[in-house]
Amino acid sequence: MLVSAKEMLTKAKAGKYAVGQFNINNLEWTKAVLLTAQECNSPVILGVSEGAGKYMAGYKTIVGMVNGMLQELNITVPVALHLDHGSYEGAKKCIEAGFSSVMFDGSHYPIEENIEKTKELISIANAKGISVEAEVGAIGGEEDGVIGNGEVADPQECKQIADLGVTMLAAGIGNIHGKYPENWAGLNFDVLAKIQELTGEMPLVLHGGTGIPAEMIQKAISLGVSKINVNTECQLSFAAATRQYIEAGKDLQGKGFDPRKLLAPGFEAIKATVKEKMELFGSVNKA
Ligand SMILES: [Zn+2]
Repeated sequence: MLVSAKEMLTKAKAGKYAVGQFNINNLEWTKAVLLTAQECNSPVILGVSEGAGKYMAGYKTIVGMVNGMLQELNITVPVALHLDHGSYEGAKKCIEAGFSSVMFDGSHYPIEENIEKTKELISIANAKGISVEAEVGAIGGEEDGVIGNGEVADPQECKQIADLGVTMLAAGIGNIHGKYPENWAGLNFDVLAKIQELTGEMPLVLHGGTGIPAEMIQKAISLGVSKINVNTECQLSFAAATRQYIEAGKDLQGKGFDPRKLLAPGFEAIKATVKEKMELFGSVNKA
């Protein structure tokens, strides 16, 4: 059964580790993340962007697929199904469809409007035991066509949103979606520490986990980050493994064109990436 992200993140915060959110794109992706979480005995959050939701034929399709896998694959570790960077309407749709967690990204609205809409969604979600992630200050890079500039959040605004009763809070601290540029300034730990000081026990979320050096990840966790989003890194490892298979001409040998064979190296590559991240985040054996 899907669970809200609240309990797993409260435990992560207390235990000084982070739970990974791995974005899914199809059946192979979902199966790879779930099996790895089970093998690592780690809690996990499956992330679905609105674009990926459309690609996978809608939120209800995804809920059906994930719930089916939890049963058929005997997944017993805590799993949350979470809308990533949701709009107000998208979040409402996911709550209706059976997601156990939603992010409302109101960071592009003026703070008053972000607060108003976040409040409304919290009351709808709370009634169903669904966790809510809110965002303050855009996170740099591109996420489904939305481009930010590595912004840094205002700690006071973070406190205002945290006080509304959100489950977890994403705050820009110089992190970027996608690949990091050569001249990236790194994470702003002063701002992170200030946000943590003002928001107390609130689990903080680090978006754009791909390519942040391991020691920065560990420092961020020590300063209160309890959820780290990984998306691009699985895409890169899937693509590289698939390329290798095709460049080696394996799709031309025997029944190598069978999708169950063609997609197998990419599937294994996602599993390896997810395992590596769970080890780095410290969530192994924390289910
Ligand atoms: Zn993000």
